Amino acid sequence: MRTPSGPDDIGRSGPAQVRAFARTEIGPYLAEHGEADYPRPLVRRLAQLGALGATVPVEYGGSGWARADVAGIGYELGRGWQPLAGLVGTHLKLCRQVRRHGTPEQRRTWLAPMARGETVFARAYHEQGVGHPSRLRSSATRHGGTGVLHGRKSWVTNARDADRILAVARSPHAVLGVFVDPARPGVVIGPELPRPGMLGVSLAEIAFTGYEFDPDEEVLGGWGHDLTESLLAHDVTSYVSRALGSADAVHEQALRFVRDSLDQRPAGVRGAVLLRVGELATRVAVMRSVRQSLLGPEPPVTPDEAKVFCTAHLQEAVREAALLCGGAGYAAPETTLGRHYRDALALLIVGAPNDALLQRIGERELGVEPGVTVKPDA
Ligand SMILES: Cc1cc2nc3c(=O)[nH]c(=O)nc-3n(C[C@H](O)[C@H](O)[C@H](O)COP(=O)(O)OP(=O)(O)OC[C@H]3O[C@@H](n4cnc5c(N)ncnc54)[C@H](O)[C@@H]3O)c2cc1C
Repeated sequence: MRTPSGPDDIGRSGPAQVRAFARTEIGPYLAEHGEADYPRPLVRRLAQLGALGATVPVEYGGSGWARADVAGIGYELGRGWQPLAGLVGTHLKLCRQVRRHGTPEQRRTWLAPMARGETVFARAYHEQGVGHPSRLRSSATRHGGTGVLHGRKSWVTNARDADRILAVARSPHAVLGVFVDPARPGVVIGPELPRPGMLGVSLAEIAFTGYEFDPDEEVLGGWGHDLTESLLAHDVTSYVSRALGSADAVHEQALRFVRDSLDQRPAGVRGAVLLRVGELATRVAVMRSVRQSLLGPEPPVTPDEAKVFCTAHLQEAVREAALLCGGAGYAAPETTLGRHYRDALALLIVGAPNDALLQRIGERELGVEPGVTVKPDA
């Protein structure tokens, strides 16, 4: 019998430890604490393992992991607990942005504490109904030596517990990223948003009501540094790994259940079960091969295509696993199927809604001008 084992791309010590951590520590943590609170102990452990500095170069105090190892973090955390994958994914993306866009001083100030997990960032970009950075309603204005931020962001992952927030807002000449300290006046974090999944890590609205900042020091890349191109070039690769992680988790769970129960089934039922096992195995194998292709040299698939494909097939994989397990999948104490089912839905939306990605793929296919542009998030 074949056992899905996950990608083979985690071999070095830090990444291997993340794999061991995800497979042995997340489950017991959730069993004890549930999904009610910010998972501080897990975040601390990931920092110790170097995962929070994975996208920070060594010269800035990070661990500077290879692309496949960074993808391995998304895979392992997606497999273990999607909300943690979302929190860490946002943080790693922001590390990358500070590295790419930050002034030398900002890189020196922020990257090392970010890599150590002492400063965990959230990103406040999305505004409902706004499809292009140039149409953001949030504004950053400059009055001499003082910058002022106004605006409202709809859904911010880790809003409540982040040490800093990178708020994206429009100035008269550029789309800026403002480093916001949520402890200072002018930041109102709304109540926790009701939702079916992605629990445990906060998700809330944030309003900036005249937040004052230093326009020279506290704007990513300095006052006037425009992030539009970077926001539009948003890469959704990490969601592919997260989707495969979930798919492998539910696949393994279904296989365990079927192995334990198959012999007790009548012959006719066994045939139907085997057929569904085959369907699920095929789906997950193709998802894995899409991810491998994407991470390999000269990928024959784009990140947009891979994200749409893998997150869509994850919905089917979770449904098939639930059908295979029956009530034991839905309600047994050791099951994680329900959680993966709830969290999988969010993967259709986060990063960029799959429909928006499909539109972007269609535009490229036909060589037509982009219409409504994909909205990136964390
Ligand atoms: C769990 C979760 C965490 C999030 N975390 C963050 C975060 O940390 N920071 C942040 O800034 N945002 C975050 N978001 C917000 C996220 O970026 C948006 O939900 C996402 O971009 C979709 O925007 P929307 O919800 O306004 O949907 P809309 O833009 O209203 O889209 C709804 C639907 O309209 C259609 N549509 C929209 N645009 C297009 C298009 N271009 N082409 C074709 N069809 C289209 C699609 O069918 C789409 O699904 C989070 C959201 C969720 C659910």
